[in-house]
Amino acid sequence: MPLVNLRTVLDHAAENSYGVAAFNVNNMEQIQAIMEAANECDAPVIVQASRGARAYSQDNYLRHLMLAAVELYPHIPVVMHQDHGNSPKTCISAIENGFTSVMMDGSLLEDAKTPAPYDYNVKVTREVVGLAHKQGVSVEGEIGCLGSLEEKKPAHGAAEKHDAELEEEPQAEGAMSHLTDPEEAERFVRDTQVDALAVAIGTSHGAYKFTRQPDGEILAMGVIEEIHRRLPNTHLVMHGSSSVPQELQDEIRKYGGKMNQTWGVPVEEIQRGIKHGVRKINVDTDNRMAMTGAIRKVFALTPEKFDPRDYLKPAREAMKKVCIDRMVAFGQAGHARKIKV
Ligand SMILES: [Zn+2]
Repeated sequence: MPLVNLRTVLDHAAENSYGVAAFNVNNMEQIQAIMEAANECDAPVIVQASRGARAYSQDNYLRHLMLAAVELYPHIPVVMHQDHGNSPKTCISAIENGFTSVMMDGSLLEDAKTPAPYDYNVKVTREVVGLAHKQGVSVEGEIGCLGSLEEKKPAHGAAEKHDAELEEEPQAEGAMSHLTDPEEAERFVRDTQVDALAVAIGTSHGAYKFTRQPDGEILAMGVIEEIHRRLPNTHLVMHGSSSVPQELQDEIRKYGGKMNQTWGVPVEEIQRGIKHGVRKINVDTDNRMAMTGAIRKVFALTPEKFDPRDYLKPAREAMKKVCIDRMVAFGQAGHARKIKV
C-alpha cells in the first residue's frame, strides 16, 4: 500500500486502545531497522524526519527510501511524518516531498527557540491544517513547551536541539507554567482542528531527561489524564519519550563511550499514557544509543575491521531490537494487517 496518513493509523490505535511509536530516521539503515521490526511483529509504523534529518539525508534520498520501504512491505501501513515543522513553509515542502503527516510546532516561533504566543500558534497551525487536509495529509500541533520540571525550566530550543542532534537542552527562565494547560489544550484543538496534539508534561529531547527515576513530581502524567478527560477524541502525542535503558547506557560505557548516568521515560509510564489517549510516542535517543553501542563494540573488539557493513549490520540489528521492544510494549504489534485504507 502507499504511505498512509497519521489519522488513519491513530484512529485505528484509538479504536483498539494501543499506542504507536514514531521513530526518527536519517539514513537507510534506520529505515531498514524499523521496517524489519514492523514486518516481524506485524505493526503499523510512523517514520519521522526532523528538519535536521531532511537536510542531512536530502529530501530526494529520503523520499525514495520511504518508497522502497512501502514497496518491500506492502502489508505494513507506514506514515511519513515531519517532526517539529517550524513554519508553514517547512510543512508545505514536506508535503511536496511526499510526507503524509506534518507537525506544525507553533508552540515556538520560527526560530524554534522562542516560546510563541497562543494566537500565533493557532494562526500557523490553522494555516497548515487548511492546506494539509485538502491533500489528505494529517497535522500534529503542540501546546505548551517541552522541558524538564526538575530544573523548573522549559527547554527553549527543544526542536532546534533535536535537529542539531545535541544531547543537552538549554534551559531558560520559566516553570510549571510551560506544562500544557488542559483548558488551553481544549481551546487549541477546537481552534485548529489538528489531528493529533503534542503535550508538555516534563519530558525533553535527548538522553538527559531526568537525574533520577521519574515520579509524578517531574513527569506529570496526571496532566495527560486531565487533557484526555477534556478531549477524549483527540490523539495525544508524547515527545522526548525514549526510555534511555540502563543496559544501553552500560553498553556504550563498556566500550569506551562517555555518558553520564541518566533516566528516561519508563515504558510503564508510557503504557499509562496509552490508557489515557496517548497514541503517538516519539522515540529517537534509544535507537541512537543502540546503534552507537553496537558500533562501539565492533570497533573495540575487532579493531582490524574496516568494512562499514561489519558495524552497520550489528547497529541495524540493535536498533531493530529496540523497535520491536517498543512495538510490543505500546501494543501496535499485530495490528498492521487489520488497518484498512
Ligand atoms: Zn519532539
